[in-house]
Amino acid sequence: MKAMVLNRIAKIETNPLKLTSVALPQIRKGNEVFLEIEACGVCRSNLHLIEGDWKKYGLPPSLPIIPGHEIVGVVKKTGDKTRNVKVGDRVGIQPLFKSCMKCEYCQEGRENLCDQAEITGETAQGGYAEYICASEDFVTAVPDSIDSEHAAPLFCPGITAYKAVRASEPAAGRSVGIFGIGGVGHLAVQFAKLYGSRVIAASRSKVHLDLAKKLGADNMVVYQESQGQFLKSLKKEEGLLDSAIVFAPSDQAIDTAIKSVRKGGTIVVGVFGNVPEFLFYEEKTIRGSVIGSRKDMADLVKLAAESSLKIVVEKHRISEANTVLSRLKKSEVEARAVLVP
Ligand SMILES: [Zn+2]
Ligand SMILES: [Zn+2]
Repeated sequence: MKAMVLNRIAKIETNPLKLTSVALPQIRKGNEVFLEIEACGVCRSNLHLIEGDWKKYGLPPSLPIIPGHEIVGVVKKTGDKTRNVKVGDRVGIQPLFKSCMKCEYCQEGRENLCDQAEITGETAQGGYAEYICASEDFVTAVPDSIDSEHAAPLFCPGITAYKAVRASEPAAGRSVGIFGIGGVGHLAVQFAKLYGSRVIAASRSKVHLDLAKKLGADNMVVYQESQGQFLKSLKKEEGLLDSAIVFAPSDQAIDTAIKSVRKGGTIVVGVFGNVPEFLFYEEKTIRGSVIGSRKDMADLVKLAAESSLKIVVEKHRISEANTVLSRLKKSEVEARAVLVP
């Protein structure tokens, strides 16, 4: 099959992904399914992996690797022990490729925290390809009402946004600031609205703020390098917030989000970053959120099918992955780019 393969960590401008003919993935266990991929989203995490930003976290553990972890495809073959998934089903694969199913986290239904978890496109081969094999226990059915290009982003930005919004304790009458609008943020705005929250979008990009407005954000505040200036504008327009969610990968954004929340409020951090200062006497709660469990994934797909969620995508061929990632790096992608074989 054709795949975009990373053989060597390098800056995206040097086109490190090479369109390569590789062996078809094989079903190796009875509970595995073989998918023909119809769409795979392009995530900022893919960029970090390719450029070596995550070497410090041991990622990728080995090369070559096929990146891509928000995948939708059609089942073409099944192992002899599959019970729930059959040939012809359309399913999605999220970053959580599989987990041990035995540890305390897996037993508690928080398998996204499993120490043995495999991550699609990082520790296991990913979706910038024509085919993939996965365990039937870690794929999620996609309803007919959502096509594959729009469904693919549900499997990373969707689950990330959904779980982070829930962690922010959304409710009618409560305000939430969303720091970083893009693939994840544009969905978080909509989930927070579904829960009835007042949504304040913060981004340095006008394109992203316009998008947030279009998707129902109640107010938009331009994120500025000067934290004092930003907080001044926020306090003038909104006052301090009940909660904030950070998807912008910057220590300063995390610090600004913490300072944007009233005493006793909650800050959800959904990206790598440091908390520069934490004042215990303000009784704020800082909470991490990373992807989600299989149940979260299924709940989210159901919610997406039942609501008028707008998943904003642009479509490209997998061979264009380097260019798409370069544009993502420059914040030129409006919301989510999706690759099709
Ligand atoms: Zn992702
Ligand atoms: Zn486990």
